[in-house]
Amino acid sequence: MPRPITATLHLAAFANNLHVVRRFAPTAKVWSVVKANAYGHGLKNVWQSLAQTDGFALLDLAEAILLRESGWRGSILLLEGFFQPEDLLLIDRYRLATAVNSDWQLQAIAEARLQAPVDVYLKLNSGMNRLGFAPERLHNIWQKAQELRNIASMTLMSHFATADSTEGVAQQMATIERAAAAITLPRCLANSAAILWHPESHGSWVRPGIILYGASPTGNWRDIADTGLQPAMTLSSEIIGMQTLQQGDRVGYGGRYTATGPQRIGVVACGYADGYPRHAPTGTPVWVDGVLTHTLGSVSMDMMMVDLTPCPQAAIGTRVELWGRNLPVDNVAAAAGTLGYELLTSLAARVNVDVV
Ligand code: PLP
Repeated sequence: MPRPITATLHLAAFANNLHVVRRFAPTAKVWSVVKANAYGHGLKNVWQSLAQTDGFALLDLAEAILLRESGWRGSILLLEGFFQPEDLLLIDRYRLATAVNSDWQLQAIAEARLQAPVDVYLKLNSGMNRLGFAPERLHNIWQKAQELRNIASMTLMSHFATADSTEGVAQQMATIERAAAAITLPRCLANSAAILWHPESHGSWVRPGIILYGASPTGNWRDIADTGLQPAMTLSSEIIGMQTLQQGDRVGYGGRYTATGPQRIGVVACGYADGYPRHAPTGTPVWVDGVLTHTLGSVSMDMMMVDLTPCPQAAIGTRVELWGRNLPVDNVAAAAGTLGYELLTSLAARVNVDVV
């Protein structure tokens, strides 16, 4: 028998969430971002549920090839481009579009022997200061790229550092407008937060990631509660042990929780080796048998303890939801001082996956 911990993927939620994206950005085409193994959901498990997208965007060549070989015939974009010139052979063979964020990449495209010219996303650094051409160089780069026979089409791409802040987006948009004033290219700028809250940034293509999975780009579930987005994953497990504490008894490694009186606690088959955050403190929410309760003490590698005071009927085998339909991953992440992005992409390979 496998351990009872299971990530249930709600396939209908992906289609629903893509629909929500289209409602917010009705005139843009959609690159569904499925990097990091579809944000931890399993690229192979989910891509067909998003097949109404206009294309898939991801990071690794290996994931792009997996997607192609799984049967996706539409567009695929490498979000950060390629990491060595030889990668262009695979980009050519698998008909991938690629971001270009530096001179050496442009040079490599100029020198490559390709069967067909490639679609390029010219990446502008508009304030994130991660990858991309400096604003003052963009015009020259664009002119140079126009002369390359190996480039089929160009789109202007940039990424927002603080898309949940109106001021941050306004600043980056102003930089984009200045740098691209005389550049007639379609634009691809908006991530999830910009799709939801900055329609002025939508352009020709949008790039939703986290909202396709039903979590919040701000880390606050309330910010997306009224959008119609649905969590695409429920992580659940079971109670595999119980203890009754007396006043002064301590719980788990380091004895980080001390009972103040008699208390029933449950042991849940879920630990940090499953991807649950080890630093989640006492009080992190957990859903047990339809009731909201919380963790007690430190999370161990394979188990964690929860307070059963609000659920006296709980017993060995009672179902526990760690996050999902009843408990937004954002709420668990917030208690642990992180974001849903990190929890979802940290799910361990040993967790069973159930697709419904
Ligand atoms: N575009 C790029 C270049 C990214 O790196 C990411 C993710 O980090 C996204 C789009 C999607 O972002 P989000 O998940 O916030 O929608």
